[in-house]
Amino acid sequence: MTPTRLRLNDGHMIPQLGLGIWQVPAEITATTVATALGLGYRLVDGAAIYGNEVGQGEGIRQSGLPRDEVFITTKVWNDDQGHDATLRAVEASLSRLAMDRIDLCLIHWPCPARDLYVDTWRALIRLKDEGRVRSIGVSNFMPSHLERLVGETGVIPVLNQIELNPRLQQAELRALHDRMGIVTQSWTPLGQGRSFDADPVQAASLRTGKSPAQVILRWHVQLGVAVIPRSTRAAGLAENLDIFDFTLTDGEMAAMATLDEGQRCGPDPMTFA
Ligand code: NAD
Repeated sequence: MTPTRLRLNDGHMIPQLGLGIWQVPAEITATTVATALGLGYRLVDGAAIYGNEVGQGEGIRQSGLPRDEVFITTKVWNDDQGHDATLRAVEASLSRLAMDRIDLCLIHWPCPARDLYVDTWRALIRLKDEGRVRSIGVSNFMPSHLERLVGETGVIPVLNQIELNPRLQQAELRALHDRMGIVTQSWTPLGQGRSFDADPVQAASLRTGKSPAQVILRWHVQLGVAVIPRSTRAAGLAENLDIFDFTLTDGEMAAMATLDEGQRCGPDPMTFA
């Protein structure tokens, strides 16, 4: 089944569900990506720091799909922040992907201590104007970072990719994104499986006959956010895509909301450098 799509604030569309490839070993990335695309995935979320952009591009070519049917995301790593360094980093990503365009390029982390994210953003604006990148966005940005970017450049990111899972539901940041016209995309959407046994997940799983992972991914979709689960097994890839034929009830969504503990799996964006 093909994922639904969301509209970005620059008019382009993004599949609501895609494949994340963090920690996918370089030697199996192409096969994993091609398998996912064969099953119906249409977005591959990578990053320069993942070390597997060569496989990301190769898997897309192996799939045989027309380039325009696949959505490619990559990210500028922290050490490459700054205007000119970012221009060079994105060209290097394009070269590893062996593509002439990236669909979405994100600033990976704000790294406030470096104080370079506005310069980095200006470079992405230039790359968008030059057509090397179709849409530009950010990742792990907090409200103060978003407000500064927009205040200094007038260009609103299309998307903010943030840690979001049942234990870290990010309601305030999601509401800010909605007000600003920014799509929220969830990373570590399964939350390292820590909520698989929770009562609201188990109850919805029992009622729908879907797995705990599918219930959680469906919860993301019904929150209206985009989501990029990772699996390297064909069965896992298929399972994570098979979430567009059932609906959680309002009561089940309300029960899921009680699982929020404000607990991160990953680093704090205010201090991560
Ligand atoms: P995830 O929530 O997708 O979970 C992956 C883990 O869950 C793996 O161990 C996998 O084997 C397991 N899993 C997958 N499907 C399952 C299923 N159906 N049932 C049971 N277990 C299952 O975690 P992630 O990879 O950390 O995050 C997803 C993607 O988000 C990454 O691959 C990457 O693309 C992106 N990401 C971005 C950032 C960022 O800073 N922007 C940080 C982390 C991850």
